[in-house]
Amino acid sequence: MRQIEEVVPTQEITKVDLLGMDRAAMGAYFTEIGEKPFRATQVMKWIHQFGVADFDEMTNLSKALREKLKRVAHVRTPKIVEEQRSTDGTIKWLLEMDNKNAVEVVFIPEKNRGTLCISSQVGCALECTFCSTGQQGFNRNLENWEIIAQMWVANKALGCKPKEERIISNVVFMGMGEPLLNVKHVFPVARILMDDFAYGLSKRRVTISTSGVVPAIDMIKSELDVSLAISLHATNDALRDILVPINKKYPIAELMPSLYRYVEGGHSKKHVTIEYVMLDKVNDLTEHAHELVEILGDLPCKVNLIPFNPFPNTDYRRSSNNAIHRFRAILEDKGLKVTVRKTRGEDIDAACGQLAGKVSDRTKRTQHVVELDSGIKL
Ligand code: SAH
Ligand code: SF4
Repeated sequence: MRQIEEVVPTQEITKVDLLGMDRAAMGAYFTEIGEKPFRATQVMKWIHQFGVADFDEMTNLSKALREKLKRVAHVRTPKIVEEQRSTDGTIKWLLEMDNKNAVEVVFIPEKNRGTLCISSQVGCALECTFCSTGQQGFNRNLENWEIIAQMWVANKALGCKPKEERIISNVVFMGMGEPLLNVKHVFPVARILMDDFAYGLSKRRVTISTSGVVPAIDMIKSELDVSLAISLHATNDALRDILVPINKKYPIAELMPSLYRYVEGGHSKKHVTIEYVMLDKVNDLTEHAHELVEILGDLPCKVNLIPFNPFPNTDYRRSSNNAIHRFRAILEDKGLKVTVRKTRGEDIDAACGQLAGKVSDRTKRTQHVVELDSGIKL
């Protein structure tokens, strides 16, 4: 009788991903695999400063170490599935993270800087009514490698090695998602962005933008020194509850003190950027400007007025130029520093709040309880 031979598949080793490791994690990993910790910084430089994902190209590592790394680790990077270029030079990439989900990342070239706007989640659970990402629902948090990969891939696509040339000078977490509901993965990525062995951006050039997750704002203060932008958008709770519903959980009276705590004890120029989307006849009246002056008090801050960027099926409209100028003048008259954001990439739907990506599972849209990595429940 013929014997049936059972074929036992060689057990697949789950490879460790090196792209998303900050220096502490990388050092610990190299120690764990019996290598000297300085190898960690060599590998970080190869990956982030020279854009190398193939261990064979890491020529200052011994052949034996390269072979070992090939067996146990990898530098996983997402695929660019679409690239769109605006007439104003803005570029938007759609990156496929798994076969169901894709996120958008936007590069905005300006005269003296290049800003990369990165995503922290697939979709967003917070349902701000004027935001396209919020309207399409939430699927999942992005992991470290998926977030830093946006910087890695953008540098590659721009043909730039950060060690030799820095085309991307600023990174803002203003793409899809609420970064402070994903601190577990966002904080290590911010560290990689600011690490001299990786991208070496100064803390002034890495900005986390949040709709106001108060406990996580306090975590920034204690764990990470980065710039902070707050999506305020309304000057009283009644209106903010509608525009930015997380306000019901963390109302203005709790949010404002957390901003004072953030700047407290910092260097003399430490400030918060206050983002304020300009919605026609909703939050752009003179009374709102006066109310804004009042609630900001003497908080060290700059106000950034963002003309609303429309998207399909929204009832909101952009404030008129007159309304924006009037609003700005009232703030400036009271001594506030104000800028009006120039809308970029509108023709390719790459402007603030227009990012859609590809969210496979929208069922979580109605799930109002979101658990922070830190265990804080919303
Ligand atoms: N979740 C974070 C970061 C992503 S949104 C946050 O809310 O801060 C980045 C910025 O774009 C925020 O200030 C957000 O309020 C703003 N935004 C969202 N939708 C917009 C739209 N349609 N027009 C203009 N700005 C918008
Ligand atoms: Fe989420 Fe920010 Fe959009 Fe609000 S504005 S839904 S927090 S991405």
